[in-house]
Amino acid sequence: MIDKYKNVAVIGAGTMGNGIAHVFAQSGYSVHLIDVSQSALDKALQTIGGNIDRQIKKEVLTEADKTRILSSIKTFTTIAEGVKERALVVEAATEQVELKLKIFRELDAVCAPETILATNTSSISITLIGSVTKRADKVIGMHFMNPVPVMKLVEIIKGYDTTDEVLNDIMALSRDLGKTPEYSNDYPGFVANRILMPMINEAICTLHEGVADRDAIDSVMRLGMAHPMGPLQLADFIGLDVCLAILRVLHDGFGNPKYAPCPLLVNMVTAGHLGKKSGKGFYDYSK
Ligand code: NAD
Repeated sequence: MIDKYKNVAVIGAGTMGNGIAHVFAQSGYSVHLIDVSQSALDKALQTIGGNIDRQIKKEVLTEADKTRILSSIKTFTTIAEGVKERALVVEAATEQVELKLKIFRELDAVCAPETILATNTSSISITLIGSVTKRADKVIGMHFMNPVPVMKLVEIIKGYDTTDEVLNDIMALSRDLGKTPEYSNDYPGFVANRILMPMINEAICTLHEGVADRDAIDSVMRLGMAHPMGPLQLADFIGLDVCLAILRVLHDGFGNPKYAPCPLLVNMVTAGHLGKKSGKGFYDYSK
């Protein structure tokens, strides 16, 4: 544990926020987990408990670890309360530009001047997020992968004004969490989603155009390309709303029609079929 950043806050307790809270707590950090939704906070603690239980079964963690990890996570429903005396805030709220800017304006107003503000955004400009604060030098992208407790990579993105000192600290912190940080410059989708999302979108277009059915598309990519999961199943795990939001950032940011989201993806999100988190996407998770 890096003492200087012992106290962290995580904003958003959804798919990513609960995993980020889990890995910080497991590495000995004190975590304030903040969400506007009490039910999201309750569900996050349940998910973390369930994930630890799986690690206990594999003899990676013990019951004592579970008690320690869960007791170092406290939940809050307001940012002002949750970020008090935190050296680092990692924002993992919904992928919407206006929402992120609103959150960062509030964070800048209520956090101590030395607090580092990191965002787990998949695609939104770090420079833009930093620009709504008076501390653009301390705003940085810290892009964890899903599922956070399992995936080794953290993509680190400096905004235009982020200092090397902040970059080096966040790189060291990522390593301290047992992760491997890789640096990317600040362009739409960074590296991970600039490559991943066009592949997922193309898989959805392949389905939409009737070239092959869902199972065939996923099987081709699993068995033919040695991907651990097919692109349609992966889209369900990421969240179809998140995929759509990222494609829109790529499309707007590069102005290139190759990033235009497939109409089937747009329809599914409009209908509320968001993948695993809503119970239905390309696959059915209701059972
Ligand atoms: P999610 O929809 O599962 O969770 C978002 C959470 O943010 C919800 O619980 C919501 O209640 C909360 N929220 C909304 N407004 C808030 C506010 N003002 N204050 C506090 N909480 C608020 O989303 P997610 O998939 O966890 O994505 C979160 C972020 O992580 C996004 O920026 C996304 O692009 C990024 N990301 C997602 C994945 C993925 O696979 N899902 C991977 C890497 C990065």
